[in-house]
Amino acid sequence: MKVAVVGSGPSGIYAAEALNDQGVAVDVFDRLPVPFGLVRYGVAPDHLSIRSVRNTLDRVWDRDGVRFVGNVEVGKDVTVEDLREAYDAVILTYGASSDRRLGVEGEDLPGSVAATDFVAWYTGYPDYRGPDFAELLQQVRSVAVIGVGNVAVDVVRVLSKSPAELAHTDMPEHVLKALASAPVTSVHLVGRRGPAQASFTTKELKELGELAEAEVVISAADLELDDSSAAALVDNKVAARNVKVLTEWADRAPRADANSHITFHFFSRPAAVTGSDKVTGLDLERTAFNADGDLVDTGHREHIDVDLVVRSVGYRGRPLPGIPFDDSQGVIPHQDGRVLEGDQPVVGLYVAGWIKRGPTGIIGTNKKCAVQTVASLLDDAQAGAIVAGGHEDRDLVSELESRGKVVVGVQGWRAVDRAEQERGNVLGKERVTVHDRAELLRLASEPLRAT
Ligand code: NAP
Repeated sequence: MKVAVVGSGPSGIYAAEALNDQGVAVDVFDRLPVPFGLVRYGVAPDHLSIRSVRNTLDRVWDRDGVRFVGNVEVGKDVTVEDLREAYDAVILTYGASSDRRLGVEGEDLPGSVAATDFVAWYTGYPDYRGPDFAELLQQVRSVAVIGVGNVAVDVVRVLSKSPAELAHTDMPEHVLKALASAPVTSVHLVGRRGPAQASFTTKELKELGELAEAEVVISAADLELDDSSAAALVDNKVAARNVKVLTEWADRAPRADANSHITFHFFSRPAAVTGSDKVTGLDLERTAFNADGDLVDTGHREHIDVDLVVRSVGYRGRPLPGIPFDDSQGVIPHQDGRVLEGDQPVVGLYVAGWIKRGPTGIIGTNKKCAVQTVASLLDDAQAGAIVAGGHEDRDLVSELESRGKVVVGVQGWRAVDRAEQERGNVLGKERVTVHDRAELLRLASEPLRAT
């Protein structure tokens, strides 16, 4: 059998491994000339140990029968129909690349940005088309980050770290320079519910209390729990640990040496982003849980002066032309990884990762998810629903190349990898990310030198 996987992030690579373990040949397509998806363009660059997962993922390309097919966009360079004709089955693992909206007044003012854009910028995503943060950040003293998940914590940390704390990361040089010269001294983290409902994890939360120059500020009032939240801590160990850390911080004596502050605002729901031609502030309504456990507006209002609002309220999947899509959830409907059209599976079409189950979980969650999808695919093959070799004998990669499309294979990726490491080594660090697509393609076309 030969299977096409669309997306070379963790889900795509875990799916390729699980298929290849059973002797299946796999082509892994990616619109970018480099692999690893959110491990490269999502995981914060200062989280070196999480980012090092890429070393494990990278081994997949050494397997017989697994190919990287980079710089090919499905939906543009080839269609899903092309893939279905050329392969026995297709697994869609293209993730959730869009952002969720707040739905409040002023959300589209200049200076109100999506965390997905900020993350794409600081990780050096090629073709980045969002706000020019290099310029924008130079006017920013105070920032509000909306949402209390791990992405929000990443954004707060990146904005609050000193230049020395970021210097060793693989962020592109222009990003490091812009962050170092930004005059940010105040970052507000805004959660619409309480500390017991925050979705960040304790390890990530704790890092905010260990920064060289930034001090965490939190009021005891924001940490008061209603009875049901307090009771929920018994079963929710992560939430209990989070509340413990936050409570310790609330009791800490102020630091004399802090250059900047990270202020937590719980029970604070964004009501409007304010400003006439650009963001100047954020209006918040104070919330509380009522006796039924519903979050309600208490009628109290708060305003914070900020120059930048970063909306970090979750990622969202995008539809692919001709593929069923659940617009309310931003995912492809499925049953055990089989793509569903209505209540019927589409023969030979599968889904895994964030575009299957939504933007949740850690990297490892995608392994279980991909393995489930591959099990469904192999069951279908066993049952005769997918016939190996029963498809038109097309070699899509040769077809693309004969049309003049530059397809980046593993040799090309390895050349980029080597060049990035060499650029990092010159600066005494592991790597510098190359962010420009033309430069990536130029490097990918260079022959690999022996070590
Ligand atoms: P997330 O964990 O779902 O957090 C989204 C946050 O946005 C929640 O606090 C949510 O509050 C809030 N929110 C949603 N709609 C809102 C609205 N209209 N107004 C105000 N707040 C709103 O998502 P994420 O932070 O984007 O992370 C995505 C996934 O990647 C998560 O599984 C995360 O753990 C993972 N991740 C992990 C790491 C790491 O391990 N270091 C780093 C980054 C990301 P409610 O709960 O009230 O809805």
